[in-house]
Amino acid sequence: MADITALEKMRQYFNSRITQPYVFRKEQLKKLKTSILSHEQDLYDALHLDLKKSPEESWVTETGMVIAELNAALKNLRNWMEPERAATNLLNMPSGSRVLKEPLGVVLIIGPWNYPFQLLINPLIGAMAAGNCVILKPSEFAPATDKVMKKIIEEVFPKEYILYVQGDGATVIPQMMNNFTFDHVFFTGSTTVGKIIYKMAAERLVPVTLELGGKSPCVVEKDANVQVAARRIVMTKFSNAGQMCVAPDYLLVHESVKDKLLTAMKATIGKFFTDKPEESYNYGKIINEKQFNRITGYLSQGTIVHGGRVDKEKLFIEPTILTDVPADASVMKDEIFGPVLPVIPFNTTEEAKAVIDKHPNPLSLYIYTSSKRKENKWLEAVPAGGSCINNSSWHLTNHHLPFGGRGLSGTGCYHGKYSFETFSHKKAVMKTPTWFDPNIKYPPFKGKLKLFKWVIK
Ligand code: NAD
Repeated sequence: MADITALEKMRQYFNSRITQPYVFRKEQLKKLKTSILSHEQDLYDALHLDLKKSPEESWVTETGMVIAELNAALKNLRNWMEPERAATNLLNMPSGSRVLKEPLGVVLIIGPWNYPFQLLINPLIGAMAAGNCVILKPSEFAPATDKVMKKIIEEVFPKEYILYVQGDGATVIPQMMNNFTFDHVFFTGSTTVGKIIYKMAAERLVPVTLELGGKSPCVVEKDANVQVAARRIVMTKFSNAGQMCVAPDYLLVHESVKDKLLTAMKATIGKFFTDKPEESYNYGKIINEKQFNRITGYLSQGTIVHGGRVDKEKLFIEPTILTDVPADASVMKDEIFGPVLPVIPFNTTEEAKAVIDKHPNPLSLYIYTSSKRKENKWLEAVPAGGSCINNSSWHLTNHHLPFGGRGLSGTGCYHGKYSFETFSHKKAVMKTPTWFDPNIKYPPFKGKLKLFKWVIK
């Protein structure tokens, strides 16, 4: 638990301006990179223990993503920090205008358990690049990774700069947020807890970024390349045993290609994870018994056309495809966040759209089609945090794109320069020379309306 004195010390450290120079920020980012790389094997071991991830999967979705984000920050930091020149309107001539990127101060970053490393450390990179002091609060449900991350941070950073706080979120976070005014809170987790965080932040007018979950639809049109769609959907739906915020939550497939797609997906699951996924190098486990019990509850809510086997002791749930799912079943109401995929056939776009409209503003929307017209129609029809065409989930690994939700799936975004912007304040500065100070700008104003109308229009 963080005592408030520790947070006050961070405020003093920030106020000393030590974190602000370019050289300091760059040095710290380099230290972070070195520390991560020196614990690379520990991270693989920990991620395997917590979630049964292979080193390859861990590199692509956790460590590698973080290293790519660090490299981008190291390469572009000077450029991101540069003040932006802005134009000046006629009213303020001959002033000059610019926008400074100011660090926010002492910020809190809260992480979830499903990608416990990447989802805590990636926002940290943006916050450090922007010159802030950071409190890191990992999820308590990935304890092995939590332990390694603590080492990575504490071996290289003083507590006044980066403070690593462990413990039960429901206790530790209110204790900090109700007794200390953070300059920003960056939260990744469920919509339910996101609302609690938002409320606490509102009490002190603390700005927030909320990276939440939800039901991301995946639409397969009749003109889709079905074989490719099957591979890409199976890959991301069952990666990390479905415990991915941007996994396709449910599938809307055109009736005319439904059977072909189901056949292709079943064959693909076999190829990727064998007929014994519990023993597969490529297949993960459910994080804990609570989540296992929640997800297995969905298995009876439709016809199982593939999978359905479970093993509580191993926290194993087989990649499962469900059909004939009633619209009011809880599997079609909650975010599934596990390896269960309901498949819903449609004949018209309106039918498919009506299903999506029950969960507005999803975190992601996936469309499989070979028609540019259909692609654009779907993109216009469904507001979403992000989208992939003929792909699922991979947009999040491109740090040139902003990543975030809208409405119930979140507010704000990050990755690459968007992270830097999230953790910076844009300070508007106008500088006015003193050699020109016409009387026209000052009272008396009587008779100047026509001129003012000419200047301000
Ligand atoms: P969670 O909301 O249960 O927990 C997230 C964090 O909040 C943890 O650090 C936890 O300690 C803390 N917390 C829990 N209860 C709290 C409370 N009452 N008050 C304050 N803090 C509290 O989420 P989770 O189970 O760790 O993760 C799964 C959820 O996260 C899913 O909904 C998933 O979609 C979402 N998610 C979103 C993204 C994204 O980038 N948008 C990424 C991963 C996960």
